Parts: sequence; C-alpha cells; structure tokens
Amino acid sequence: MSKPIKFSIKKELDGKPGRAGVIETPHGTIHTPAFVSVGTKASVKALTPEQILETGAEVVLANTYHLYLEPGDERVKKFGGLQKFMNWHGPTMTDSGGFQVFSLGAAYGKEISKVVSITDPSQLLSERSLDGEEPRLAKIGQDGVSFRSHHDGTLHYITPEKSIDIQHNLGADVIFAFDECTSPTESYQYQEEALERTHRWAKRSLDHHNSLIRANGGIGPALFGIVQGGREEALRKRSAEFIGGLDFDGFGIGGSFAKEDMETAVKWVNEILPKDKPRHLLGIGEPEDLFMGVENGVDLFDCVAPTRNGRGGTLYTSSGKINVRNAEYREDTGPLDPECGCSVCKNYSRAYLCHLYRAHEMLGGTLGSIHNLYFIINLVKQMRQAILDGNFQEFKTKFLSKYSK
Ligand SMILES: [Zn+2]
Repeated sequence: MSKPIKFSIKKELDGKPGRAGVIETPHGTIHTPAFVSVGTKASVKALTPEQILETGAEVVLANTYHLYLEPGDERVKKFGGLQKFMNWHGPTMTDSGGFQVFSLGAAYGKEISKVVSITDPSQLLSERSLDGEEPRLAKIGQDGVSFRSHHDGTLHYITPEKSIDIQHNLGADVIFAFDECTSPTESYQYQEEALERTHRWAKRSLDHHNSLIRANGGIGPALFGIVQGGREEALRKRSAEFIGGLDFDGFGIGGSFAKEDMETAVKWVNEILPKDKPRHLLGIGEPEDLFMGVENGVDLFDCVAPTRNGRGGTLYTSSGKINVRNAEYREDTGPLDPECGCSVCKNYSRAYLCHLYRAHEMLGGTLGSIHNLYFIINLVKQMRQAILDGNFQEFKTKFLSKYSK
C-alpha cells in the first residue's frame, strides 16, 4: 500500500523538538508548522475559497459530525467529495466528530465546582471547532456514542467504524480516528476508563480504515490517531505509547486543556510519538500557544478563534488583540495593523472597520476574518522561516515582547 501522504523534516531546532517540514498530499503541499483554517461545515465562515487562499491558508479542516447531519456524507460523496463540493482545491482534513459528540453532551454537562486542582477554571480552553451547535444528550457505550441531532432531535449512533465510513465518504486527504474527549475536570478513574475506550476505538478505526483502503485498491486518505489522557502525566504518556505504536500516518493531540497544563502535556506526548510522522495539536491557535507548540515539535494547529473573533470584531495586531468596535477607533484613519501585509490592512482604516461592526454589516465579519486568519497563518509561517534561518528564539522574543506587553 502506498502512503497517502509524505512527511519530511527540513530542519530542526537546536536542543528542542521543534521542526520545519513538508507534508505532501494528493491535493498539494503543506509547509509545516502550519495553521489549518477551520471550515466546520465545508465553509470557512464568511469567506469564499478565493478569500481563504488570500489568507495564505494551505489546508482546510471540516467537521464530520456537522457534515454527517447536514448535508449528509453520502450527498457530499455524490458531488465528488469535500474539495469539489466546496470548490477548495487544496488539501483538506476532517476531524472525527468525537469532540462534538462529547462536548456538552457528556463530559461538559457536569458540575465544574468539583474541580479544585485547576487554579483558574476560566483558563479552561475549549477546542476543536466547537462552533455553537452541539449535540444533545450524548450517551457513551462501549461500542460508540448515541446522541440527538442539534437540528431536529433525531437519534443517531456513531461507532468508530461509522465515523471512518463517514470520513471516507467526505473524502478529505487526512482524517482522524474516533476518540472520546474528556473534560480535564473529570476524575482520574473516569479519565482512565475513557482513555482505554479511546485506545480500543483507535484500533478499531485503524482496522476499518485499512479494510476500506484495501477494498479500494490501496487508495484512500491518511488516518491520524488521537492521543488523549487529560492533564495526567501517566495517562498522557500511556496514550502516546499506545497510539504512537499503531500504524497511523500522523497524530492528533487532543483534549481540553487548562492553559497551565498544555505545555507539559505537549512535551510528554511529543517525547514519545515517532519523530517521522506529523503531529497536530487540535483546537489550539492563540499566538503564545502556537510558539509553545512549534517549539515543542507540533507541526499542525487548527482553531476556530481567528474566524470567530473576526466575526465579532476582536482582531489580532502585532501589539496585541483589540476590539475594533470600541469607540476609540471611530476616528482612527490608520490601518488595523501597520505591520500586517493582508489586503484588509493595506486597504481599509480602523474607522471603517469600526463602522462596519457597529452597523452590523456582513462585510465586517469577512474583512475581520481575512485579517485574523492571515495574521495567524502568517505568524506560523514566520515561525517556520525562523526555524529554517536558525533564529527562532530571537523571533519569538521579539514578537511576544510587543504582542503581550
Ligand atoms: Zn491584516
């Protein structure tokens, strides 16, 4: 069986696990580290594919749960797959739907008050394209998860095999194994049970994926396994050993993180995962976290924050985030960020952007999303270049001293 993607490392950081590389897919090359733009329902919200390209994006990640319910994976298959359906010609990925099925449905519905070990619960990071529409009443069994659609309340049952079937129908270049994403507020015992379940499901996802590929003459997407384990060192390492030992094409690092736990979790996991396969930190995308991830050997990131913030008027600048709706920008004729090279910063003033948001004009969300995505994608590209040029630490210090002052 020929490999569906090819990953090669071009340069490594001195004394750190960070690396710059290339992932070749049947639909084009991804230069890593890279930020993956999120197009949950086969649409990067408010942007046309032409505008997505303009942000410098090389790859789009859609969501299995949402596309399964609407318009349906069989229908997407009939239209020639995700790329053709949405008119995005570059590489695509689909998340397994595990996170959406579990979020709020199961783990997140429980009282957060039992968390004493997380010093600041407001720092809890939600992740993986949770974009405001969640399933209801998810119920976890040994074989899969039953849940009610957020559209019409119909009952559905997803198993690892079903998730892989749906993802093969959707036709992305990279797909993910079905996993259970636990809240870091769960007990150790629950996290351990959930982890064992995720591991069994990973194996079943891989077996089913391989049988579909064999049946299709050796052709099909790449499959990434997902490491879970919450904030527990022993569980994270056990998960990295188990998932890293299976014949996946790459790996996702999943879980909702308390901000204070993310770095240690990434370090534990990346020390163990095989070096020669790509690693995707799921659902993470704030500048500080991107530096941490890149430095510690993460190759891919995705997050809904740039577009969600963009639609709300919270925009990234080289001097930190601003809310451009604020009255102080009403007469500001300067560009959003003089250091940004995107078309929004070249052509529009802060005053005009401020006006668009205040007037609830749709164009505000489009321009804000173009800028935010460009900003984050370009930041990761600059990190990549800094690895290649051998000045990553200098770039990091310079950027963060201005960004988070
Ligand atoms: Zn810009």
